[in-house]
Amino acid sequence: MNTIVKDSYDAVIVGAGIGGLSSASILAREGLSVLVIEQSDRPGGLCKSFKRGQFTFDTAPTKFQGLGELGFSPIRRLLDYLDEQLEITSKPTVHTIYYGGQVITVHTDMNAYTSELAALFPQEAGSIIAFFREMENLYHHVISRSGPPRPREDETFMERLRAFLSHPAGYLSSKKASRISLKSEMSKYSLSEEFKSFLDADIFLRTGMTTDEITAAAGSIALIDHHVGGIYYPLGGTQRIPERLEKSIIENGGEILLRTRVEKILIESEKAYGVEFSDGRTVTTTVIISDIPPDSLLGVTFDKAQIGRESVSGSEKERKPSVFAIYAGIQSSSIPDKFDPNTVIIPDPIRNPGDFVSLNVPSMLDETLVPAGFHSLSIHTLSKHTDWPSPASPEYKAPEYMERKEEETKLAEEKIASVFPGMLDNALCKEVATPATFEIFSGNKNWIFRGAKRQPGAPLALPGAKTRIKGLFLTGSQTIFGGGVANACAAGINAALASLRALERDVPIFVMPKESKLIETIPIRHDVQVLKVVDAMSAVFESQRCLQCENAPCVEACPASIDIPNFLRRTSCGNFAGAALTIREKNPLGAVCGLICPSSQLCEKKCVVDEGTSPVRIREIEAYICSSQRDEMSWPSPPRSRNNHKIAVIGSGPAGISCAYFLSLLGYSVDILEAMIEAGGIPAQILPEFRIDRTVLENDLEGAFLERITFRGNIQFGKEITFESLWREGYRSMFIGTGARHNCDPRIPGSDIPGVIDAISFLTSARRKVKRELSARVAVYGYGRPALDTAIVARNLGAKKVYLITWVNRDDFLDSCGVKKIDDPQVEIIAETTIISAQGNERLEEISLAPGQANPCVQSIERMEDLSVHQVNRLNVGTLIISTPRDIEPTLRGYLASHLTVRTDGTILVDTETMATSINGVFAGGDVIGSSGVAQACADGRKAAISIHRYLTKSL
Ligand code: SF4
Repeated sequence: MNTIVKDSYDAVIVGAGIGGLSSASILAREGLSVLVIEQSDRPGGLCKSFKRGQFTFDTAPTKFQGLGELGFSPIRRLLDYLDEQLEITSKPTVHTIYYGGQVITVHTDMNAYTSELAALFPQEAGSIIAFFREMENLYHHVISRSGPPRPREDETFMERLRAFLSHPAGYLSSKKASRISLKSEMSKYSLSEEFKSFLDADIFLRTGMTTDEITAAAGSIALIDHHVGGIYYPLGGTQRIPERLEKSIIENGGEILLRTRVEKILIESEKAYGVEFSDGRTVTTTVIISDIPPDSLLGVTFDKAQIGRESVSGSEKERKPSVFAIYAGIQSSSIPDKFDPNTVIIPDPIRNPGDFVSLNVPSMLDETLVPAGFHSLSIHTLSKHTDWPSPASPEYKAPEYMERKEEETKLAEEKIASVFPGMLDNALCKEVATPATFEIFSGNKNWIFRGAKRQPGAPLALPGAKTRIKGLFLTGSQTIFGGGVANACAAGINAALASLRALERDVPIFVMPKESKLIETIPIRHDVQVLKVVDAMSAVFESQRCLQCENAPCVEACPASIDIPNFLRRTSCGNFAGAALTIREKNPLGAVCGLICPSSQLCEKKCVVDEGTSPVRIREIEAYICSSQRDEMSWPSPPRSRNNHKIAVIGSGPAGISCAYFLSLLGYSVDILEAMIEAGGIPAQILPEFRIDRTVLENDLEGAFLERITFRGNIQFGKEITFESLWREGYRSMFIGTGARHNCDPRIPGSDIPGVIDAISFLTSARRKVKRELSARVAVYGYGRPALDTAIVARNLGAKKVYLITWVNRDDFLDSCGVKKIDDPQVEIIAETTIISAQGNERLEEISLAPGQANPCVQSIERMEDLSVHQVNRLNVGTLIISTPRDIEPTLRGYLASHLTVRTDGTILVDTETMATSINGVFAGGDVIGSSGVAQACADGRKAAISIHRYLTKSL
């Protein structure tokens, strides 16, 4: 694992489901240093969305309570407290159930719903109405205590006293109701078995629990709250809710570590003090909040007795059935009139009440999730099997697995066709998620979505936030709050408050503000074609084109391995600081790379978006994000603790800056020793201003120069300082990133005549605005973007005609420059040509050219002589600028060769896994090892920093 984290935090949250994110967002907002660790590639647990082409699907069924102004509204209260905006839309029904031969619409209007039930079950209408009235009373008692009842140990004495004094009867009845099941509450009414099984099914659909599993108190919320608080959908997909929480965590200085697995919660003397990662590294903390299911938690972390509830582990044999899902993009015309976006089919409620198929069409609530004329349909049903093989096992995708998958798909489709014939015909896209592959859509590669263990008496028997372990708290849907996003959020709030109390800190009060940040609105389809990313709006729109590929090819192609889908996902929801952080976790020079990275040959070349237009403009978005985000929270922060080791970084180009920056994040003090007077290497000293604005570079450098980095300029390595002197000065390790500041010598006879100059000194003087006389006709001899830049600078400085002479063919040359053509009549390419000599008396007057495709830096003198016998053209020029590939400066090259193992071209030989050179403790990267490009240099520097840390700490 190559993630860089601090060694200590105030709070560590294991798991970024809604519970974990809710807890983390509160603790970060209250000023604690927070680290969230999540094993999947996105936060949100099952509250996620994913894309297939232009279709956005929600991973799990989608209808939200907890967002309304009234009733149990934990999500609304939390987002308002966090000051996070969310656009929502409401719907008038909870769901419509095709129940055997009947159609029952569960209206959010309570009277309409109970009247409908009374009409369907006329013999027991009175009992039904009395039962619902009692549930309503109980609900109001429960809600008046700000959410579902918590276990006694989670509440303070004062909280209990206040609740009792404010409404003694309500307090006692809600307490009592939290000790009995809903089923036993129902038994007080003369309800038929048929109605009870309908209620069982309805409760299961709303909560994932049956009436004998859920308490009467939690059941009252499940049954009544939808009718008081309403049903909503977050515009943009369910992913928007975790994204708001994620944004708040980051903006309040918290950190979120994705794709990282916690192996162990560290406990000593009944006190939790840290977590251990799979590579053995540990992070210490005062508070740990676990949002992973107790059965995983128990298996991995600690004994069940330590949670404080014996029954929490449930029974391995009695797993609930797993969820099986089908996602399909269908024609709008396939949806019948008056179809409820949340529809459930229970084909045979009498003989098989637990058998259902749920159909969710969120695009009926937010049309922007799909292309015009289509809908996204998510189908969820319970799998017949509980033993789906894991993706890691040999049975995964074996013939038996595939047969089973087909069989269950067919079964679900038949049930749908029996009520809605033709709905799935001509689906534009269709994916089936078995319980074994559900994790792909939920972004969790290490987790099998199998049914949770049955919890007898749950959620009564489930734990609250507090455990018997000091400093360890639980959150999420596996606690007493039960399933669903609103309940998980309430559990998150409860765990955060319990942690703050344990730390003896003030706890926030969640009040409904006069003006909520939750805006009920209608979705608007923005058909915007972004031609260039120039501002926040264009960055958001352009990033929304990203498909969030699970195995993103763009990341593979990025030399710095930036988590591109995540940085684009964060940009797409306005979490710009989070997007910048994602980039800077891998590359401190994001704005520089955003300007000069040859993205058309790297990430954008591999981007799978191809709507006949262009790939996602990754580079431009990166440039915008990193230039606009300069606040502290958009940069990873170094640890509080200081490491005693002092490291020397030789060279301040991208490789050196990156190495120093990541070493500083690992707690080291770093001295950067640079031959020039200023930092920045090639981008600072050579690249023309039209390629890179000075302020962009300065901003990146300002952010990257963390407080433990010292810059010492004007020091020549190999002369004023040597390996020996640096060891003597007490440096424990070194990184060589001295770059290549010399154009290789093409050995052109006559190249010592005045008028023949090298591109590096030409561009350096141009960058420093040193006045230089140029002839009217200039030749630039070289290859790639540096040669093109040199030609443009020469023209800008007054040359009337610039000949770009190159040994490769025209297409290869343009390709190497990352351009399709050169739109400048003053610049002419002369391809597949070699300069064989330069002539002139006191000054250059002409050059001799011969056809030839050999790289002049590697061909032999004899070959040059051979060429001279071929047809030779002469070209009158007064200046020849040599822009051949860069090389290590000769004196330094000799010094390095006398101390280290080098290649024939003088570049240092390193172990590419560690960047280690042949000297123990000395590492190298960037141009000096033959790497090319800023992103690759930054990647080298980062890799070396981690290796230096491992070398010094002897870890791994
Ligand atoms: Fe996929 Fe990357 Fe392109 Fe997004 S940018 S669509 S993740 S390849």
